[in-house]
Amino acid sequence: MNKKINKSDFKTDWSYSPAPESTDHIKIVKKNDLFINGKFMPPEKGKYFKTINPANEQKLADVAEADKSDVDKAVKAARKAYDKVWSKMDPSERGKYIYRIARLIQERAREFSVIETMDGGKPIRESRDIDIPLVSAHFFYYAGWADKLSYAFPGKQAKPIGVAGQIIPWNFPLLMAAWKLAPALATGNTVVLKPAETTPLTAMKLAEIIQEADLPPGVVNIINGDGKTGRAIVEHEDINKIAFTGSTDVGKMIMKSVAGTGKKYTLELGGKAANIIFEDAAIDQAVEGIIDGIFFNQGHVCCAGSRLFVQESVADTVISKLKDRMESLIVGDPLDKNTDIGAINSKMQLEKIKMYVDIGQKEGGSVHQSSCGLPEKGYWHAPRLFTDVSQSHRIVQEEIFGPVLAIQTFRTVDEVIAKANNTPFGLSGGVWTDKGSKIFQVSKSIRAGVLWANTFNKFDPTSPFGGYKESGMGREGGLEGLMPYVNLV
Ligand code: NAP
Ligand code: MG
Repeated sequence: MNKKINKSDFKTDWSYSPAPESTDHIKIVKKNDLFINGKFMPPEKGKYFKTINPANEQKLADVAEADKSDVDKAVKAARKAYDKVWSKMDPSERGKYIYRIARLIQERAREFSVIETMDGGKPIRESRDIDIPLVSAHFFYYAGWADKLSYAFPGKQAKPIGVAGQIIPWNFPLLMAAWKLAPALATGNTVVLKPAETTPLTAMKLAEIIQEADLPPGVVNIINGDGKTGRAIVEHEDINKIAFTGSTDVGKMIMKSVAGTGKKYTLELGGKAANIIFEDAAIDQAVEGIIDGIFFNQGHVCCAGSRLFVQESVADTVISKLKDRMESLIVGDPLDKNTDIGAINSKMQLEKIKMYVDIGQKEGGSVHQSSCGLPEKGYWHAPRLFTDVSQSHRIVQEEIFGPVLAIQTFRTVDEVIAKANNTPFGLSGGVWTDKGSKIFQVSKSIRAGVLWANTFNKFDPTSPFGGYKESGMGREGGLEGLMPYVNLV
């Protein structure tokens, strides 16, 4: 059992000096309306829901809930902006707007990072050094493509598709918004975007930036709500394309719903990545890669290295080093610059993680957890690893989306390839070895969209990202990320 730490213990009980990021310069709008046609407006039915800080359960703001009539309003605004302005605009002019958005995000990066961390629970080190810099990098990258589409698709004309409905999850809130918006705008489409229910605040800040950048009204509309709002977007008959990132279950529902409608769609769904460590790997580096692979962003990562395969001859060493390293991970205040593992995003997600830890034990797995204390208020989960599990265990097959690693061993290359591919998912994977030939052999044989070699969780706007099998279809990022937003003629 973890010992309980009271909030008042924060300053005394930790074995380091907390250095929380200041929130003095942050302005959180207390009542967030819908952003439609370039203006903030209340929802038709006047309903609002709250978003909280999962690290202390305190309410941060109220957020407007969009129903069908609001979705319709947003789609109409997007259609008008598409027909009258955005699709007709000179591409180099479109590019200038997107560059402007990128620069404004850079200027306000600190504010965005702090709000991202408060609303979602991720460590400030990650929102500050990874999420928000990647957000502006995505806008910069796609701004560059806006007037170069004839080079992207030689001999073809790239025509926009129309109005895109975009639905995103809570694990990388603003980054997922950037992945969706930047390529859609660069190719001349207009957008209705719905952030996740637990993390709407940075998207609402982005709406402020879109106003400041003077984007023509209706080009980007941002509306909040739950699954019903998402469904209303998917089912709206004047939407031309759905871009969805989220769970495989909802992805399947969306596929059924758009079948036969002529709507284009891309689905970025769940994962259960294999992180493979060979005996000839640089073991200390590999251990860091395993830690980053599963505990980055509390394991709320679609491409998390949640299945570790370690070659039998080095298994004891790797597991012992992993346990030592887990002890040094700091779980706590996400705003603290020392924190490695922040808060679990929601109570619901915490319950799901705990359920899987129970299942893992009931099915015979042995669990190890770090001895860190956990704050009393908020949603927390100490990092855990499971051994004594096999291919048929549910925690090996199903996505947990939390800081829980399932470890198995292997003897030969063929064996590990077969085991790694024995999953309904195919989003990502990692291979750690000193031998280049083994890297090529393994990465070619694993059916996953992204394979990292001697590193993990590296992202770049120039590099396409996406899955095979139940991890989805379509790519985001890179030149490939333009494809879902154009008709080539
Ligand atoms: P989720 O429950 O599928 O929700 C994703 C988004 O869809 C949210 O905005 C959600 O609204 C909305 N939604 C829920 N039901 C809907 C419906 N019937 N129709 C339309 N929209 C609906 O997933 P999540 O729990 O937020 O996110 C975690 C999942 O996302 C994991 O499986 C993870 O692997 C995946 N993910 C994949 C990638 C990738 O690139 N492949 C990246 C990040 C995350 P609410 O917020 O109100 O529920
Ligand atoms: Mg929140």
